[in-house]
Amino acid sequence: MTPDRDRLARTLIELVKIRSVNPFDETTKEGFREQEMSDDLLSRFRTLGMETGWRQVAPGRPNVWGRLKGTDDGPTIMLAAHMDTVGMEGYEAAFDAELKDGRIKGRGSCDMKAAFACYLEVVRMLRENDITLPGDLIIAGIVDEEHLLTGSAEMGKNGPSADFGIIGEPSKLAICPTHKGQLCAKIFTSGVATHSSRPEKGVNAVEHMGAVIQHLSGLNAELQERGPSHPLCGTGRFSMNVVRGGTFASGIPDQCEMEVDRRFLPGEDIDDILDDYRARLAELSKTIPDFQAEVIGPTLLARALDVPLTSPLVEAISGAAKATLKTDPEITAFPGGTDAPNLGFPCVICGPGDLAQAHSTDEYVELEEMVQATEIYLRTVLSLNGFKSAEVNGFFSQVFV
Ligand SMILES: [Zn+2]
Repeated sequence: MTPDRDRLARTLIELVKIRSVNPFDETTKEGFREQEMSDDLLSRFRTLGMETGWRQVAPGRPNVWGRLKGTDDGPTIMLAAHMDTVGMEGYEAAFDAELKDGRIKGRGSCDMKAAFACYLEVVRMLRENDITLPGDLIIAGIVDEEHLLTGSAEMGKNGPSADFGIIGEPSKLAICPTHKGQLCAKIFTSGVATHSSRPEKGVNAVEHMGAVIQHLSGLNAELQERGPSHPLCGTGRFSMNVVRGGTFASGIPDQCEMEVDRRFLPGEDIDDILDDYRARLAELSKTIPDFQAEVIGPTLLARALDVPLTSPLVEAISGAAKATLKTDPEITAFPGGTDAPNLGFPCVICGPGDLAQAHSTDEYVELEEMVQATEIYLRTVLSLNGFKSAEVNGFFSQVFV
């Protein structure tokens, strides 16, 4: 048996053609089609005999789910993915998905509509081979992962919930039970505006921000010198990425703001990070006359993920990946943030495609990796539901269609 390659390719091509671009800070309107993606998934869930549900997170932006009811008391497992994609600026033919040279191209192909095609194939294989699970199996479609993670925050609060989850973000099928969190904050400097013919009469907020930048410029290196304090995530990271200040060239500016980004380790305290910024600014106020600065944050907070390697989920998916790939799977930290920590139960990241292609203007996923991902997901689901590995191997060697 193998998963149905043609069906996987066809499903993904259809999903990529739905332009479910995240509206980011704009209001939802034509062109941002998370709603259409939700409707499409709901109808696919119904075709597979799943119970369905949905709930608006914001107008035109519903989370959706399909539930394949179990027969007994097994664990509930969620296969989750985000429905939104980043934009397509500079990406010609972003939605003209096609299968070529074993790859399916297009915006959202690896990040992360391929996962939906694999999840749907898992359910189809279970149904068509008359395999009943003791536990429920849920496929969840989540809005707004690419911006503020409001979709997963809503689902974590209002359900559905599960005992275990898999999120098929592109990891090249590596198993990622952990990732860093992201904390964005703003630093403001304020001064006194005056005419630039007499700068000494004012206090230049932009120049003070220059001093802040210099003062914080060693922080990233400092974090790395501290050494890894998490076995898989390594060290934290810091970067200064947006500066806004001043309005015209002949006026001394009284306001300047900077957006800073901190990638933090599981276990690091958010307040400690913000307090550390404040302490560093306080040092500057001792040496620069009239220096005034404040820190506002978090302006964006994505929590860190840390599922223990001894979790039954990690053990099950590791075994499933080994059986599928015929080699020991890579177990590592996922480089970016995900919906996983918001969902409120143990989730592992493992999916087809490479993060290097996600968000690029040459996004694609290898069909072969989708086939492998489908097998890994199905084996994991069966194993967590108590099927013995000999039985599962038996399914894969003969029974499945
Ligand atoms: Zn993604």
